[in-house]
Amino acid sequence: MSTTGQCLCGSIRYEFDGTPAMTGVCHCRNCQRQAGSAFSTLAAVPRASFRFTTGTPKLYQDADTDSGNTVERYFCGDCGSPIYSAVPSSPDMIFLKTGTLDDTSTFQPQFHVWCDSKQNWVKLEEGVPTMAKQA
Ligand SMILES: [Zn+2]
Ligand SMILES: [Zn+2]
Repeated sequence: MSTTGQCLCGSIRYEFDGTPAMTGVCHCRNCQRQAGSAFSTLAAVPRASFRFTTGTPKLYQDADTDSGNTVERYFCGDCGSPIYSAVPSSPDMIFLKTGTLDDTSTFQPQFHVWCDSKQNWVKLEEGVPTMAKQA
């Protein structure tokens, strides 16, 4: 059974097989800016099991990051929805923005990263590991 999702306008649709290898929330400033929100919700999905079924995303090479690594940020060029990010340290994984899933009901973050830049109003759930910077 595959899991499906799409951008806001529907120009981009994707699917992947299996369940994500891990899930998390990123509170870095760049995710806040890209999302226009407080954080990114992410699911690590093996690249080999992920495919676009409609459309092709645009790529923004985000080189000005706290980690110093260039983050590839793929997004819909029509409506702007972030679709996934990729980092050179995990070439076999994509980090899907889970707000684009058709069914978001099963998303449960396993950790929070870059909590040093977490927005003040955000209260984190007890028992979920937090990291000041990256994992
Ligand atoms: Zn779109
Ligand atoms: Zn981030």
